[in-house]
Amino acid sequence: MTDRAYQMICRACLRSGFVGGVQPPDTCPSCGNKDVRSDPELFDLKIAHIDCDAFYASVEKRDDPSIRERPVIVGGRDRGVVAAACYIARQFGIRSAMPTWQALKRCPDAVVIRPRMDHYVSISRDIRARMLALTPLVQPLSIDEAFLDMDGTEALHGCSPAEALLKLQREIRDEIGITVSIGLSGTKSLAKMASDRDKPNGFFAIGMANAAAWLAPQPVSVLFGLGRAAVARLEATGIYTCGDLVTADSHQLTAALGKNASTIRDLAAGIDPRAVTPEREAKSISAETTFVSDLSKLKELEAELEVLCQKVSTRLKAQALAGGRVILKLKRPDHTILTRSQTLPEPTDKAHMLFEIGSLLLARETGERKSYRLMGIGADQLGPPAGSSLLDLSDDTTLRRNNLEAAIDDLHHRLGRDALQSGRVFSRKARPERDATRQRAAIETLDLEEPRTEDDQHDL
Ligand SMILES: [Mg+2]
Repeated sequence: MTDRAYQMICRACLRSGFVGGVQPPDTCPSCGNKDVRSDPELFDLKIAHIDCDAFYASVEKRDDPSIRERPVIVGGRDRGVVAAACYIARQFGIRSAMPTWQALKRCPDAVVIRPRMDHYVSISRDIRARMLALTPLVQPLSIDEAFLDMDGTEALHGCSPAEALLKLQREIRDEIGITVSIGLSGTKSLAKMASDRDKPNGFFAIGMANAAAWLAPQPVSVLFGLGRAAVARLEATGIYTCGDLVTADSHQLTAALGKNASTIRDLAAGIDPRAVTPEREAKSISAETTFVSDLSKLKELEAELEVLCQKVSTRLKAQALAGGRVILKLKRPDHTILTRSQTLPEPTDKAHMLFEIGSLLLARETGERKSYRLMGIGADQLGPPAGSSLLDLSDDTTLRRNNLEAAIDDLHHRLGRDALQSGRVFSRKARPERDATRQRAAIETLDLEEPRTEDDQHDL
């Protein structure tokens, strides 16, 4: 082995510089601390993934020091589910989306706290504002995680992205009082994997020259964008690691993954061209679809509407937003457009609520000789989702549907969109004329399947 130049940064004194040696340096030459990170490309890596550690639970512990050393669950009691579990609670096997009664069976001493969504959203905004002070290229994935593209920020900050990120991590800890974990690499997929490696309060970098070798022994499930169903199909064909995936036979891979095979093979080799795409502050969130042939039957239109509502709901939840008004858009065969809207008593991000209101609006516009070539559904008057008060105000049916939707969301995150569908949506697949619409949806699948992490928002 020959001497290499390592780019090194110390998490204790924040000094950074170059260190030569056969092995990566394990202590800071400046302060002697062992909390150092190094890589031959450390200062050149620009894509970061920042993830708050057990976000809701960390906020509750910050606000009440008396529960700091105790297992804490944020979630609904009785029929509710776990929205977040602190690291102590996780040692008992408690995970997000687990029914609270089940979690309490594993750990009867756990402190159960009702979620305070408005509070978490305002802290999330504070953190996001600090990210935006580093770079305008911030892409939030959920209330507590985001990608940052730090390209071109060195001159602005007078330091490498690694150093600027470490300073941000320290600032969030000292000024907001919670910890975040940071992954730094050259692609989104690698950055996302990296942030998960060193939790909590972690900082993990993966150099691009080393990426393929680092990935090779990792299980395929680590790949960002690969759903559980795809992982199961790969494992069924004997492909367990990223290394297996890279060297797999092309036909075998296409049989398991379909048209995404080459994209996923690239991911396993460390290649991921997806850019960090900042989302502008949305005024409304909507989804629409053009039918291959005009539709007139209420049942057929409802099946399409349900899929659209799920898409809108997913986007609302990802951005921690809820809509105060539902808008239905229909385009007639002569291209004239009709819109109908309904203001809600309380803002929602729930697919079942969007569908309930949307189908009421739709039912009024269907009937004899009324057919449509396009339909869209959207939500505007956006704001933070209603907090735990919704639990109290909701009637039993709504509460049950909310819980069901949280469970379905979780299944979709784990197993992919196809894992569970309503009969209405399933029947839609049987109609051959839907092919073009489905293909359009399929193109988006890789991005939509982006898995959420443990502490993501689950709707209670
Ligand atoms: Mg998190």
